[in-house]
Amino acid sequence: MIPRLSRGSEARASAYREFLVELRVRGFEGELSSAEADRTVFATDNSIYQVLPQAIAFPRSEGDVARIAKLARDPRFESVVIAPHGGGTGTNGQSLTDGLVVDLSRHMNRILAVDPVGRSAWVEAGVVKDQLNDAIREHGLFFAPELSPSNRATLGGMIATDASGQGSVLYGKTRDHVLELKCVLLDGSPWHARPLTPDELETVKRRADRIGAVHREIDRIVNENAALIAERYPGLNRCVTGYDLVHVRDEEGRFRLESVICGAEGTLAFVTAAKVRLTPVPRHSALFNIRYASFDAALRDARTLMKLEAASSETLDATVLALARGDPIWPAVAPYFPDDPEGPAQGVNVVEFLAADADALQATIARVEAMLSSDAGSRRGYTIARDPAAIKAVWSMRKKSVGLLGNMAGERRPVPFVEDTVVPPEALADYIGEFRAALDRRCLVYGMFGHVDAGCLHVRPALDMKDPADERMVREITDEIVALTGKYKGVLWGEHGKGLRSEYAPEFFGPLYPRLQEIKAAFDPDNQLNPGKIAAPPGRSLSRLDQVPTRGQFDRRIPLAVRTANADSLHCNGNAACFNYDPDDAMCPSWKATRDRRHSPKGRASLMREWLRQLADLDVDPAARAPTASWRSFPRRAFNSMASHARDFSHEVKEAMDGCLACKSCTGQCPIKVDVPAFRSRFLEAYHGRYLRPWRDHLVARLEGALPLLARVGPISNAFTSSPVGRMALTALGLVKLPSLTPVNLRKALESRGIPEASLPALERLSADELRKSVVVVLDAFTTFYDAPVALAFFELIERLGFTPFVAPYRPNGKPQHVLGFLQAFVRTAEANAGVLRAFRKTGVELVGVDPSMTLTYRSEYVKALGERAPDVLLPQEWLARHVDELPRGEPVAKAPWVLLPHCTERTNAADAVGDWTRVAARLGMQLQIAHSGCCGMAGLYGHQRETREISERIYAQSWAKYAGSAGIRDRTLATGYSCRSQVRIMHGRKLAHPVEVLLERVKSLREQSRSTL
Ligand SMILES: Cc1cc2nc3c(=O)[nH]c(=O)nc-3n(C[C@H](O)[C@H](O)[C@H](O)COP(=O)(O)OP(=O)(O)OC[C@H]3O[C@@H](n4cnc5c(N)ncnc54)[C@H](O)[C@@H]3O)c2cc1C
Ligand code: SF4
Ligand code: SF4
Repeated sequence: MIPRLSRGSEARASAYREFLVELRVRGFEGELSSAEADRTVFATDNSIYQVLPQAIAFPRSEGDVARIAKLARDPRFESVVIAPHGGGTGTNGQSLTDGLVVDLSRHMNRILAVDPVGRSAWVEAGVVKDQLNDAIREHGLFFAPELSPSNRATLGGMIATDASGQGSVLYGKTRDHVLELKCVLLDGSPWHARPLTPDELETVKRRADRIGAVHREIDRIVNENAALIAERYPGLNRCVTGYDLVHVRDEEGRFRLESVICGAEGTLAFVTAAKVRLTPVPRHSALFNIRYASFDAALRDARTLMKLEAASSETLDATVLALARGDPIWPAVAPYFPDDPEGPAQGVNVVEFLAADADALQATIARVEAMLSSDAGSRRGYTIARDPAAIKAVWSMRKKSVGLLGNMAGERRPVPFVEDTVVPPEALADYIGEFRAALDRRCLVYGMFGHVDAGCLHVRPALDMKDPADERMVREITDEIVALTGKYKGVLWGEHGKGLRSEYAPEFFGPLYPRLQEIKAAFDPDNQLNPGKIAAPPGRSLSRLDQVPTRGQFDRRIPLAVRTANADSLHCNGNAACFNYDPDDAMCPSWKATRDRRHSPKGRASLMREWLRQLADLDVDPAARAPTASWRSFPRRAFNSMASHARDFSHEVKEAMDGCLACKSCTGQCPIKVDVPAFRSRFLEAYHGRYLRPWRDHLVARLEGALPLLARVGPISNAFTSSPVGRMALTALGLVKLPSLTPVNLRKALESRGIPEASLPALERLSADELRKSVVVVLDAFTTFYDAPVALAFFELIERLGFTPFVAPYRPNGKPQHVLGFLQAFVRTAEANAGVLRAFRKTGVELVGVDPSMTLTYRSEYVKALGERAPDVLLPQEWLARHVDELPRGEPVAKAPWVLLPHCTERTNAADAVGDWTRVAARLGMQLQIAHSGCCGMAGLYGHQRETREISERIYAQSWAKYAGSAGIRDRTLATGYSCRSQVRIMHGRKLAHPVEVLLERVKSLREQSRSTL
């Protein structure tokens, strides 16, 4: 039995407790939390660091932000420090603090106004870049500054780090697109920063408050230090983030405070809203994908490529390319990166050209091809992508580079700390040669990719930060690379901001650094706003990179065996791909519905890591202590449960796990393969080794076994559950909106159609040819007892294709046990079921399931539990695709296409198989499109639990409602998941068809047609 975890990670300082109380008194309207779980989740970003905050505030408005800023200047709270927080995608600890985190992303994420004619938009700071672009696409406009995590980084964070990325040579950085800012200064004064004419500036400078002071100070510093500023700020595309003094005056001589706030990393003021410039979407584009024999050759070609006047030139090395080959994205991009006779390319440059019309683009392509062929240089060859889908796929591969590298095998994993250096592009190849030598000397593995046109390469050396020797290399390598960038007249912090690497600023800026300190002091005299970063007020120091706690230092306290058994949570590197804002993407419904970071894959992985660490500090391995919640331990567990109000960190972890739908989107989509359902089950098993389970868990875990009995009295059972007494019983169990058992007795229906139950002797009696034309359908409990017509349609379809179907003897699959964390019971169920199915499969007959979620259990949870003993069961569309030639060929039908909403688990864990539905339908002449949809919100039990029903409906409303609920679309909408179809029935009182049902109808009608033709 695991012990109670009551110590807490760290004592909470009383100043912060009082600060939160006082904030409420002053009318703060957002949420405030000092719960250990929230603090743990906000302790990391994508960097190597882990800094535990004291509390988190989630303001709802500028007024809330002003309340925080004003209170911080109260003499009682001078020890309180604050860091603004956006998407949390920083790579260098920018938003980490041991004080108060102010998260502007949860509530302040509205697009306030769009002016398509004036090409601008006002947005709150928490708006995500892709969210803005999706909203303005209809106007043919976009927000141009690019960055890889565009689906989760906020405008506030982009402004604060002056973000940029692919295309920066053409479009510039975020600062170039900020027109005006609404800010809150540390004394709580709101300020609308916009370009000021000289007269307006003089008026503002005369103000006696902090606003007057900061304008006076910056104006003085810029006027007195023009030569020093020109000397110290390098003339590079990526310049230097943080207190940008170069652009304080624009071309019209206007004063722009917003230029200094852009890139200040939240050390000067809060940004609450921004007016940003919108750019017309380029209508025509083409990508040249150029292959080289070495990465060095690709880099050395940069100078020539720059002469081509491309919109952007990006480079990828052989390591990234090799990893991309194993990624689901590869089939879409492979035609553009063919192998040469010498083998695969060792480096590629992807060069994009834009044009206003097709003729102009054709002319550009001709010009570029002429230039490339006049001097082939070291190029092996190139392809051109013009199809928008192909271009999007190639850029997606490039955007995935960090994720691809992060998924390297082994304990040494790529980490960011020298990942965004910039040198003049013409010096890039020589510089990278020396950079590589520094890493090779230390026998480190690394991948490289980046913006060859801007001289910015992303390099993440693979280190095991749990190993103190590797950790020391962070300092050694950073020092060496800082010197190297100096040699090549470049910078360490070219793209991702300074963050906890700011200690190199004094040397870099030399005599200008004291002026930066004066700017900091004018805004924040007592160093309370994100201290230690960019610049410290005079007399205060910057943080040092080896004096900040790292994640590795926490993780190394967990014993190796425990770490190995929990790699599916411990390897989360915080790249934040799971905070994807897109409601029509499967990843991660519980986060999207709650915007609560505890309820995200990263949140749950962080809590699991911390839980394991706290147990390790008590010398406890949960796997060794957890299991058997036996009757003998019942009294102790009952006692623990009665005393469950006592503080225990495990309760906070449990709350986060309870919010998970076990939809497995993280398992399929997290680039690092963080697998929440897997570690959630282990956690639940351990947790309930100490605390009693609700009765509902026991009932649900046994439901698959009990359904055959219940089905015998189906009408009685249905009548009972819909009676007042039944409803009261269900309410007592915390269950709502349960489906009715199907009136169809599937067994009898199959018998009457002569479809036999599979048995080993019967299969062994078949000849090889007969086996080839036979298939065993492995039915799950839910299709069998709640949705029999779908199963019957599938059997009929199989027969009409000329195959002999068998039905596998009914056995529980065990998925509900796995989801609830009855892991020992699950293994027993899986062993029993797998034994029979494997024996069938050994005869050579194919096995096929119907429900995607239940069927995919065989290739995931079964494989983890049983290894090679897991049976090989196909999804229905996989089986149909294998036998597509048996389907009648149909002429294309000129009807509106069918729209398929796949189950999340299928979409994210068997992505290729989803496309099989389209291929199979096309054979029959049917158009079937895969909807860009998120999660239905049902996911097995989740949508039937009283405590999660409301969130389940919120999830449904975010994406599915617009398909399944819209007249016109809904009649041609299909769904593969039993749970999903149940959810639609509950929400709209109507049944969506399963694709096998419409395929069957089409096969029947084609056969009819051919008969009548004959
Ligand atoms: C996989 C990956 C790839 C990346 N690629 C790129 C890239 O291509 N280009 C690039 O530029 N960056 C890149 N980054 C870095 C990061 O995404 C950017 O720095 C981004 O702009 C941070 O935005 P955010 O909303 O996540 O901010 P956060 O990480 O939450 O915060 C970043 C900084 O902004 C401050 N801040 C946030 N909101 C506010 C506000 N409202 N007011 C004042 N200060 C605020 C914070 O205090 C912090 O100092 C990458 C990161 C990852 C993980
Ligand atoms: S769970 Fe996966 S996607 Fe989310 S932050 Fe961790 S590694 Fe990234
Ligand atoms: S299983 Fe689904 S709900 Fe749970 S963490 Fe993963 S993506 Fe989120």
